[in-house]
Amino acid sequence: MSQHPEFDVSEFDREHLWHPYTSMEKPLPTHEVIGAQGVRIKIKDGRELIDGMSSWWAAIHGYNHPELNAAAKNQLDKFSHVMFGGLTHEPAARLGQQLIDMTPSDLQFVYFSDSGSVSVEVAIKMAVQYWQNTGHSNKKRLLSIRGGYHGDTFAAMSVCDPETGMHSLFNGAVQQQVFAPKPITRFGHPLDKNDAKALEELLNEHHVELAALILEPIVQGAGGMWFYSAEYLAEVRRLCNEFDVLLIADEIATGFGRSGKLFACEHADISPDIMCVGKALTGGYLSLAATLTTERVKAGISAADGVLMHGPTFMGNPLACAIATANLLLLAQNNWPAQVRGIEQQLERELDVYRDHPDVADVRVLGAIGVVETRQAVDVAKAQKAFIDAGVWIRPFGRLIYLMPPYIIDPADLSKLTSALGLGLQTNR
Ligand code: PMP
Repeated sequence: MSQHPEFDVSEFDREHLWHPYTSMEKPLPTHEVIGAQGVRIKIKDGRELIDGMSSWWAAIHGYNHPELNAAAKNQLDKFSHVMFGGLTHEPAARLGQQLIDMTPSDLQFVYFSDSGSVSVEVAIKMAVQYWQNTGHSNKKRLLSIRGGYHGDTFAAMSVCDPETGMHSLFNGAVQQQVFAPKPITRFGHPLDKNDAKALEELLNEHHVELAALILEPIVQGAGGMWFYSAEYLAEVRRLCNEFDVLLIADEIATGFGRSGKLFACEHADISPDIMCVGKALTGGYLSLAATLTTERVKAGISAADGVLMHGPTFMGNPLACAIATANLLLLAQNNWPAQVRGIEQQLERELDVYRDHPDVADVRVLGAIGVVETRQAVDVAKAQKAFIDAGVWIRPFGRLIYLMPPYIIDPADLSKLTSALGLGLQTNR
């Protein structure tokens, strides 16, 4: 870029770069970032925005963190990547050990991949291959929960909510899965019998063809930012055992403390058969994900010389693994439970004022996640302009304006986010 001083980033971006879920013909406004430090993102015109999004759940310790930078530079000076076929290295082994130590104790085997969606593909492959290799090749379909989101690749898409997901767009190209209703029982409430009944009926009807049930434990993220009862999750585990269906917990968004527990499965004290993690794994530095599983699933896949049929080029990328290791050490050092509890209490206090707003249908808070659900869809472009003018970075979708700030945010900056959030409501009217 320095060789072309006249190079206009925004203009090139507008004309050539696709952004998530957007049209190239009618692009939405984008803002050029020229730096990011702590909880602040600096844009080209010099304004600094307080980050309310952690770059989609990822940047839990904020940006440009000295310890994460040091981990990256240290690994960079050794080697940044080697293939994982036939080679291994300390960054992958150390991170594998950390993940095994921190996740539920049954999870002992780790498959590294490059993104959350791919880790879901791997989880689905694990489940299908497990049954195929143990003499149940009829068990190929997945049971998923309405309101869920698991990624944008094809198998992941097939288990996303069929209405808010992309099923109609890719009609015929996406595998038909089985869907249970979204649990209506809110987090912290005793289970509504109908939630469990619907699930039991579906399992009863379909278990012979089901490889696994996949869900986001406790927090349904991109599919609606809904927090459901831990009793529902406990019931899911019980029913999966009863009907011999594997349970895949997609902790890509919830993992590493965001919901107030290190992993959201802990709210119900359950252990899945397969677990996916990503996003905050590298503190938002690099794309990395992992799929973990148990002795039973590993042994099934490996029986009769079976192999897990997946092998991405950047599997176990050393740079990403080294950063992830430093990130997880930082999580413990920073006393994440206190950080997340502090954010939760402040969100509860400060978002409460929106409950009586005429445009607000619901306000909910769990861990370091605060959600204001509106009655009508938010005008994202308008709201985003109002947020930027107020010095904050909040990115609503649909009828949801939500905050999930970096864990390191201080109370004054969090207050700026919670008070600016109301601007999204005003522009909505
Ligand atoms: N599962 C969940 C629960 C997610 O929130 C996401 C990302 N929003 C994914 C899977 C997909 O992850 P990625 O975008 O890294 O492919």
